Amino acid sequence: MLKRRIFLVFIVLVISITAQSQLRDTIRIPGIPGYHTLKYDPHIHTVFSDGAVWPTIRVHEAWREGLDGISITDHIEYRPYSNDVVSDHNRAYEVAKPLAEQLGIILIHGTEISRAMPPGHFNAIFLKDANTTDVPDWRDAIGAAKEQDAFIFWNHPGWARQQPDTTLWFEEHTWLLENGMIHGIEVVNGRSYYPEAHQWCLDMGLTMVGTSDIHNPIGMDYDLQGGERRPMTLVFARERTAEGIRKALFAGRTAVYFDDKIVGREEYLDALFRESLQVRSVTRGQGSYGIRLYNPTDIPLEISKARGNDPSFEFFRTTTVPAGGYSNISVYISNARDYDQIELRLNIDNFLVEPGKGLPVTMRFVPDAN
Ligand SMILES: [Zn+2]
Ligand SMILES: [Zn+2]
Repeated sequence: MLKRRIFLVFIVLVISITAQSQLRDTIRIPGIPGYHTLKYDPHIHTVFSDGAVWPTIRVHEAWREGLDGISITDHIEYRPYSNDVVSDHNRAYEVAKPLAEQLGIILIHGTEISRAMPPGHFNAIFLKDANTTDVPDWRDAIGAAKEQDAFIFWNHPGWARQQPDTTLWFEEHTWLLENGMIHGIEVVNGRSYYPEAHQWCLDMGLTMVGTSDIHNPIGMDYDLQGGERRPMTLVFARERTAEGIRKALFAGRTAVYFDDKIVGREEYLDALFRESLQVRSVTRGQGSYGIRLYNPTDIPLEISKARGNDPSFEFFRTTTVPAGGYSNISVYISNARDYDQIELRLNIDNFLVEPGKGLPVTMRFVPDAN
C-alpha cells in the first residue's frame, strides 16, 4: 500500500514537472560571440492605460512565450480606466514586480509619453519615477525622463493616424537628438515595419527597437498555438540582467525579430547568421559538390545567390533552410575534381541589413575527409 502511494506521488510529481516545463516556450535564437541574445519586449499596455489586462498577466504571457524581459509602458496622457485604477504611473510596474522576480522575468520600469505629432509618442525605460513625466510640455516630459538616465525611443514613427501619407522626420526630432533625448526608434511596432526608421537608425547611430505595443491579451492578436510570435527586440547583452540590457541598448547592440525576419546592423546579423547555420557535411563527386545544411534556430534562413560567383558553378537561385530543419544543396561543376574547396557568394534575404537589402555572406565549403 505504502509502495503504491509513493508510486502515485512520484507519478503526480512527474506530471506536474512535465506540465510546468511545457508551459514555457523556448525561443531558439542563439547567442553571438561575447553576448547572450536576450528577448525583450519594451512596449506593452495594461488596464493602467488603455490595455485590456492586469499587469501580472503581462508577466505570465512573457514567461510562457520564452521572453527574457519586458517593460510595461502605459500612456501618461491616455487612461480611459482612471476611475477604476489609481492615478499613479508607477503602479502597474509595482503590481507586476513580485511575479516577475518569482518567474525570472526582467521587468524594466517604463512609460509612454504620448503626444501629437510632432514629436509623437515616446517610450522612456529605466525610469525611477514615471510620475515626473506627467507635465504639460512635451519637452519637459521627455526631459524628466532624461534626468533619470532613461533610455528613450520614438514609437511607431509611421503610424497612419499621426503620419497619414509619409513617414517624416520633423525638426522637433532633430531638437530631441541634439539634446540627447532620443536614443532609439521603433523599426517594428506590432505588424508594421518602418523602412524609414531602419534607415534613420543606420544614418544617425540610433538603436533599433522592435515591440508588440500589445493592448489585448497576447493570444488574441497572435496565433501562438500556430507558431506565431510577437515582434521583439533581440538584445546582445553581456549578462542576463536589467543592467546588461541597459548597456546593450545604449551601445546599439540590438536587432529586431518579427515575422520570420531579422532587422539590424550588418555586424550583428552576420554574427547571428554564423551561429545559426551549420554545415553538416560536404561531399565532392564527379560533377558536383553536395552540401548538407542544418538550421537549429526558429528562424528559417532564406538564401539567394548573390553576384560574383564562379561562372562555372551551377546552383540554386533561392533556397530555404527551414527552422529546426535540414537542406541539401548541390553545386554542379563539370570539373569538380579540380576544386579542393568552393566559395559561394550568397544573400540571406530575411536578415535585413538595410531596407530591401539582405545580409551578404561568403561561405567556403571544404569536402569532408573520409
Ligand atoms: Zn503609442
Ligand atoms: Zn503604446
